[in-house]
Amino acid sequence: MTNHRKKALIVVDVQNDFCPGGSLAVANGDQVVAPLNELMKEFLDRGEPVFKTRDWHPAKTKHFADYGGVWPVHCVQNTPGAEFCSGLLDDPRITIISKGIDESADGYSGFDGTDLAQNLRDQKVEEVWVGGLATDYCVKHTVLDALQQGFEVKALADAMRAVNVNPSDGAQAIEEMRNAGAEIIGNELAVKGSGH
Ligand SMILES: [Zn+2]
Repeated sequence: MTNHRKKALIVVDVQNDFCPGGSLAVANGDQVVAPLNELMKEFLDRGEPVFKTRDWHPAKTKHFADYGGVWPVHCVQNTPGAEFCSGLLDDPRITIISKGIDESADGYSGFDGTDLAQNLRDQKVEEVWVGGLATDYCVKHTVLDALQQGFEVKALADAMRAVNVNPSDGAQAIEEMRNAGAEIIGNELAVKGSGH
């Protein structure tokens, strides 16, 4: 089945601190790099927009445990942990969306406090494909906000991994995204973590 909706790809937070060795490492987080690189190339080859979001926190934010949040320090602006994972495709045609800048907000979603929705609308995008890190936080919130903003959404199960603070969080996030109207494509087992 083909459709002619204009598409964009959103690669969420594939940054050093979320990959193995990082301060908030997602198990097997680096495994999203290869499938997302493939997709980025395909989108760019077709002239379709590609976005990379990045967590871009100030050193002091209520998002961090030290200041009342739940997370260890991660992805602080202009530190190595905030850089995109090595091996992730870099291309001047890719638009970088920085989020989590507000020190009073978590900024999980790529739409939260950014111009992403306006940028997509300006380019007449109707459908977004979303993958990255992590399934149960920033990917989920980005997917849910995209739906709320009126975009069709395909969530890329093979190209996302979960934090799984609780072992079933990734699977539950997939269900939440599906129930909200996202189409889940790819192998869902990939996001459910070990033991599932
Ligand atoms: Zn964060």
